[in-house]
Amino acid sequence: MLIYPPGELYQRGEDRCQINVEASSSNAMRSCNDLGYVASNLDFNKFKVLLKDYASEKESFACFISDIKSFDPDLIFISTSNGSLYYDINIINILKVIKNDIIIILKGALFFNAQENFLNSLNLDSADYLIMAEPEFIAPELINAIFFDKDKIPSIQGICHKKDNLWQVNNLTEFNENLDSLKFPERSLMNNKLYLNPLTNKPMATIVTAKGCPYDCIYCLSPVIGGKKIRKRTPDSVFDEIWECFHLYNISDFFFKSDTFTADKNFVKELCEKIINSTLNGKINWVANSRADTIDEDTIQLMKKAGCSLIALGIESGNDESLQLMHKNTTVEQNINAVNLIKKYDIKIFGFYMIGFDWETEKHLEDTKKLIFDLDTDFIEISIVTPFQGTSIYKDSKVVGKDAFGCTVNNKLNNYRKKILLEYHLRPSYILKKLKDKNLKPQILVNYIKYGLRLIKNCLK
Ligand code: SF4
Repeated sequence: MLIYPPGELYQRGEDRCQINVEASSSNAMRSCNDLGYVASNLDFNKFKVLLKDYASEKESFACFISDIKSFDPDLIFISTSNGSLYYDINIINILKVIKNDIIIILKGALFFNAQENFLNSLNLDSADYLIMAEPEFIAPELINAIFFDKDKIPSIQGICHKKDNLWQVNNLTEFNENLDSLKFPERSLMNNKLYLNPLTNKPMATIVTAKGCPYDCIYCLSPVIGGKKIRKRTPDSVFDEIWECFHLYNISDFFFKSDTFTADKNFVKELCEKIINSTLNGKINWVANSRADTIDEDTIQLMKKAGCSLIALGIESGNDESLQLMHKNTTVEQNINAVNLIKKYDIKIFGFYMIGFDWETEKHLEDTKKLIFDLDTDFIEISIVTPFQGTSIYKDSKVVGKDAFGCTVNNKLNNYRKKILLEYHLRPSYILKKLKDKNLKPQILVNYIKYGLRLIKNCLK
């Protein structure tokens, strides 16, 4: 059984951004690709698989337990996240009481090359194995070994297993570069209708285009758990997956998942040209992540032509000193230019900002606030810095959160964040812009209202 447990919605498939979706400003749940990849890369002749995202299905705990009783799995794989870890530990403890012989695998970035004593302190007695990253490669290998070749387990990289009831950590030191060798996520087992693009209200598939990031942003887990080398799929392989989604699953909206989609312009050019020269031209729309210093006019123009409707931009701060100290390697001016360029081609922008670095003064915060309003992007999120285990900010952690999962919330910062979010979204000019959007349809308006009410409720808490 491969699952996201019932309960609150966390981006469990996203190691970089494991947010609580309902508590975010306007994020929507993304598809459970990690489960889908594990399913497709298992041998269906050997295993019968039940895949379910209970949280997105809004299924109850009772339903989950009923499935456990009727499906009677030998093994369960649960994708966990930093924010849900203690909740998930509770669930696996209950599972072991109900079905004592069930084998439990937890996958989470928190376990990445962790210290044994850290794991031994976490009350993970009910878990049998931990996977620290790259579940698409590691989980099928581990599951095969558990059932058919137990002796192999101690040599599998990227897992934690137990010896005499104590955790043994097999560090992940080499990343598999051949992303094309993976089968596409098993979307026949995923309920694709659960993962909607709020801007079109249509199912949105997540398609991984690359992994790894060469940058050094001090708060970011990506280079840690995905490696510093960008590992790309070929445009052919990505295009084939788009084609399969469109023709087999009737999906026309996509999130191209990579740390920086525009990092390799040749890749972007080739993929965009493939889309433009195919029968999919004009029929799909997609979103991607980017950084200001990897954007140029030709690339943006081509992306727009190939169906790009939104770019998520890590702007982070309105203060150059702050950008420098967080090793973002971009400047305020670059971010302004990038936003103007994207706006010129009528592509929507989701601006991401961070507050709460220990060096930040009122001036830094005010500069960020000013930039947020000046740039006036279509959507924004302001994150309070969280020192995820493994990042350099965790090692010399002086930031507001004390650890990576039971993060201490700084009320002053939290209130500052909420105040900006409310002010930003309740501006008459912002609301008017949304109402005048040429793509506005009744269902999209309903989505704006739904997400707006969620935001107001979260900010007034
Ligand atoms: S550019 Fe920075 S924030 Fe973005 S994925 Fe790379 S390290 Fe993380």
